[in-house]
Amino acid sequence: MNQEFESIPKFGFGCMRLPLTDPEDQTSIDIDQFKKMVDEFMGAGGTYFDTAHVYHQGASERALKEALVDRYPRDAYTVATKCLAWAIESAEEAKQNLAVSLERLGLDYVDFYLLHNVGGNRTARFDEYGMWDFVQQKKAEGLIKNVGFSIHDGAETLDALLTAHPNMDFVQLQVNYLDWDDPVVEARACMEVAARHGVPVVIMEPVRGGRLADLPERAARILHEAAPDASLASWAYRFCWHLPNVISVLAGMSTLDQVKDNAASFKADKPFTEAEQAALDEAVAALKSVPTVPCTNCRYCAKECPQGVKIPEIMGLLNLELMVEDREFVKGLYSWQAAAGPASTCIECGACEQMCPQSIDIIDQLALAAERYE
Ligand code: SF4
Ligand code: SF4
Repeated sequence: MNQEFESIPKFGFGCMRLPLTDPEDQTSIDIDQFKKMVDEFMGAGGTYFDTAHVYHQGASERALKEALVDRYPRDAYTVATKCLAWAIESAEEAKQNLAVSLERLGLDYVDFYLLHNVGGNRTARFDEYGMWDFVQQKKAEGLIKNVGFSIHDGAETLDALLTAHPNMDFVQLQVNYLDWDDPVVEARACMEVAARHGVPVVIMEPVRGGRLADLPERAARILHEAAPDASLASWAYRFCWHLPNVISVLAGMSTLDQVKDNAASFKADKPFTEAEQAALDEAVAALKSVPTVPCTNCRYCAKECPQGVKIPEIMGLLNLELMVEDREFVKGLYSWQAAAGPASTCIECGACEQMCPQSIDIIDQLALAAERYE
């Protein structure tokens, strides 16, 4: 990893769920509160801020200008923002995102620019719009310092993308202790692929959308006994802070208390002791001890399905609910991860079940998923 990346503290600030003055209005960011959060974060040695063109419908970028850019010297922080080209109707509009983001942020250049949520059938839009060449051109013009992409997909797709685009400066991956060996997310394998390509990583979802800060009792008890004063979130961050080849670990924070708690964990941070590592392993085993769908993500089923149902992804989401016991959270993930092939489009032809080496009752599981998440 280059010196510039080495110098970035691992504690990063994700700006996708900022405090609001009106809970019904995503643009009503509580700027006074956010300024306090920024000050606390900077005081703890943090420098990396992650936003996106779409977060809070653009208000996240504007709030960063007010709370950070207008109040701190340019060399005191780095800003990452993103373009969600797959959700945009035209190449012109997708390319215009960068200029709009820079204007909202009040910056001449952005430190990190990401093609956001590449992978699955979303990659085609980035290709079609010429976004890969566009970001390199803007980097050459000095508007972007580092070009990368974020991805919620498996190691094979990541490998293919990094092979097709070897000039990426970094990549943003979903990594946390629960997904480390998950057959769908493949966090460990993705980290290995990035390292093999020599591409450093920004970690997103270290707390799995907050679920690892609010564990079911069977796992929480083990961690509380091992370290009574440590927050559950601190276990999740420490796991990521000590992985190799990591630029920053994004903590999506909504309150000043969260910033304070994470800042305290960061200041006191040390690698896990043997006893702590054993406790974490035990907690993960407890989380996974519930009977789950034995899907290995081999994807034989997906190749056969005439409807393009996202079978392995849906099995993974059913399992996630069983582990973290939070249906609404999983429903939110399902709304976009299964959007291209929801369970309800299954016509019960049975082709998938004939292919499944685990003999999973896929049709029944899909019916359950449709009932719970659609
Ligand atoms: S049973 Fe449903 S999910 Fe399975 S292959 Fe047929 S349509 Fe696809
Ligand atoms: S064939 Fe079975 S084990 Fe393989 S991905 Fe499909 S559901 Fe999972």
